[in-house]
Amino acid sequence: MKLKKQLKKSIKRQVVLGKRAIRRSFKFVVFKNKYSRIVRKYAKMEAFQAIKRGFKGVQRQIAIRPRIRLFSKFTLILIVLLFLTNMGASYFKAKEPEIKVNGQQILVAKNSESQNPEETLLQASVSSKRSPFDFRMPVSDGIITQGFSSYHHADDIAASYGTPIYPLGGGKVEFAGYMTDGHGDTVVIDHGDGLKTLYAHMSQIDVGVGNVISETTKIGNIGLTGHTTGPHVHIEVFDNGVMINPSSVLPDN
Ligand SMILES: [Zn+2]
Repeated sequence: MKLKKQLKKSIKRQVVLGKRAIRRSFKFVVFKNKYSRIVRKYAKMEAFQAIKRGFKGVQRQIAIRPRIRLFSKFTLILIVLLFLTNMGASYFKAKEPEIKVNGQQILVAKNSESQNPEETLLQASVSSKRSPFDFRMPVSDGIITQGFSSYHHADDIAASYGTPIYPLGGGKVEFAGYMTDGHGDTVVIDHGDGLKTLYAHMSQIDVGVGNVISETTKIGNIGLTGHTTGPHVHIEVFDNGVMINPSSVLPDN
């Protein structure tokens, strides 16, 4: 009986000691070690002061460690490059036209980014099937130098400067003039049935708003107005306001 009591007491003692040891080591990990001391120091500081101190520490590390210095330089260059390419991309991105004639909006290009490419393909094939026109090429001896893509909702057809431009089909001139968004001298023709075509970068415009024209009417000449690196006609095709692939309605050469 006495032995049992002693054993019990001894176990109790061991438990108390164990608990104390755990508490002590926990205390050491949280409060007594080097890093927690630094953390507590920073916690007590003003936020601004802490940032300043941290920045200084990073600076010192960069100064004394060549590999970190190299890495930080490389990262900075990468950030600058990323920023520049982003700016470049937004500059060269085909801008969506919004033209108003007599206060009436004639072209409403849908946001290209939000459009599903499969949807665009579907629209292109559907519209080419129901196109009431036998569209023609706008220039003779033209070469498609840039086709339709997610960032270029048009076909660029290059030909020598001054080459006459004909509409893809007959229709009514809806816009004829200079567009400040990079298109330069531009003509927009309404072909009816929701189809419209746009011709940009012209050197000369031969038609006026309201003119009813046929596919043999010369509408202007190949030029370099607006944002362009060489003489070409930039063609956009709108199907009920949605920009579709011009190649889907153009004849296969
Ligand atoms: Zn273009």
